[in-house]
Amino acid sequence: MAATNNSNRCLVWFRADLRTVDNTALIQACQKYSSVLAVFIATPEQWAAHDTAPIQIDFIRRRLAVLRSQLAELNIPLRIESVADFNAVPDYLVTLAHDWQAGHVFCNKQYEWNERQRDLAAGHALAEAGIKFSVLEDTCVLAAGTILTRQGEPFRVFTPFRREWLRQFQQSPALAQTAPQPLTRSDCDPRFGSETESNPGQSWLGYPLADSSLWPVDEETIRDALMRFCIEHVADYGEQRDFPAVEGTSKLSPYLAIGALSARQCVSAILHEHPQALEKQDAGPFVWLNEIIWREFYRHLIDAYPKVSRAQPFIDWTKQVAWHSDKAALARWQQGETGFPIVDAAMRQLKATGWMHNRLRMITASFLTKDLLIHWQAGEQWFMSHLIDGDLASNNGGWQWAASTGTDAQPYFRVFNPTTQGKKFDPNGEFIRTWVKELDRVPDKYIHNPHEWSGAASLAYPPPMVDHKLARLQAIEAFKQAKAAA
Ligand code: FAD
Repeated sequence: MAATNNSNRCLVWFRADLRTVDNTALIQACQKYSSVLAVFIATPEQWAAHDTAPIQIDFIRRRLAVLRSQLAELNIPLRIESVADFNAVPDYLVTLAHDWQAGHVFCNKQYEWNERQRDLAAGHALAEAGIKFSVLEDTCVLAAGTILTRQGEPFRVFTPFRREWLRQFQQSPALAQTAPQPLTRSDCDPRFGSETESNPGQSWLGYPLADSSLWPVDEETIRDALMRFCIEHVADYGEQRDFPAVEGTSKLSPYLAIGALSARQCVSAILHEHPQALEKQDAGPFVWLNEIIWREFYRHLIDAYPKVSRAQPFIDWTKQVAWHSDKAALARWQQGETGFPIVDAAMRQLKATGWMHNRLRMITASFLTKDLLIHWQAGEQWFMSHLIDGDLASNNGGWQWAASTGTDAQPYFRVFNPTTQGKKFDPNGEFIRTWVKELDRVPDKYIHNPHEWSGAASLAYPPPMVDHKLARLQAIEAFKQAKAAA
């Protein structure tokens, strides 16, 4: 289909970048064209196939309503379309560009395997129709493929990656850009934007919507949350970040995952409030920046090693681990009924809120993969289908770290003791009591071992489902055997 292009018009295809501030594709489109149409293409079947959490889909739906009004202020209509078949997206894009007479489509790059294949197909289809396609670097502060060893290889270990990341960032700091200026004229046929669903995406959901007050999506709230964290909390981040009963982390991950906030905005905010952040490596601002760099590391990894986002372990020999296939045990972990209070509290927090504290993600992932010796992919999938901040690169990276199958992962012979972890990071059981109501009456002394309390028989709470000492030895043995067999 050859398009009759209007040289003033282009399309911006929004995906995981639902913001107008610091959005590279949008900014470039507005610099080059006087008439811009924005489009978001929902693919509910793909989301179902990839276990995208309903709470995250609802979050995207709510954010799109905000994005629509922000774009309207720039005189850019947003069209929201639902395409059943993921593979049909390129054709839909060509048809829309053709109808709108756009000669150019802009979007920001995604690193996940399926998304890359879709973009390759879109590129071919658009080229055949005589339409330009620009896929721009945006999701990382420093683009994947640019942080390399002296030999030009991608880093596999975090610390040298970070060193090189910091060196390049200091040479040329990539800071956030503002939103584009409103376009002066909008000659957009209302058919293309404003006539689409007023409550976008309601039809993507077959279930009740989540409590929106828990995770607001408006710009002011997100910006305030970032600035409040940088001004009031980040100084204590290093000391408080591991304690789930304390509001010690930013809780910005849901916004970063859908691109309502960019990593550059986070880095810019921290450097604005703490200009010495890069020099004082033991202070809170740097410790927080370090986590943003972990996010980048996992993105660079899935870009350099596509097998990682194609359900493969990073370390090949770990494919030989004789994982247990125990559906009942998996269900007890999923429902927070393991008999290990810190694990159960965390799993219940996830189900109730769509979010889990980082320390608890590490503890629960270790419990599933080592104490229960259940395949990390079962956990990865459960997290993805429940997390509001579900993000393939970080989730896969976190699971492969905990399961000792990833690059720069926890060594397999180092196994978290869930009881000791609970005692260390939730000493009085404050977090446990919030989520495991059955343990309300248990004295602090026994909150991590309630089965040892004299009143344990009266508790409606299960005893520990495994003997940790034994399970640890069995897990180490399973890994040893897998390594020997490889
Ligand atoms: P903060 O401590 O305030 O950190 C700031 C930001 O840095 C976070 O918002 C996040 O974008 C990034 N970040 C922090 N820690 C990490 C980390 N370890 N790895 C990568 N990025 C990090 N994070 C997700 O965003 N999505 C996921 O699906 C996800 N799944 C995980 C699964 C497992 C098993 C593990 C161990 C970790 C996972 N993480 C995931 C990383 C981390 O737990 C969350 O990013 C963090 O808990 C989010 O809370 P926060 O925004 O308060 O983080």
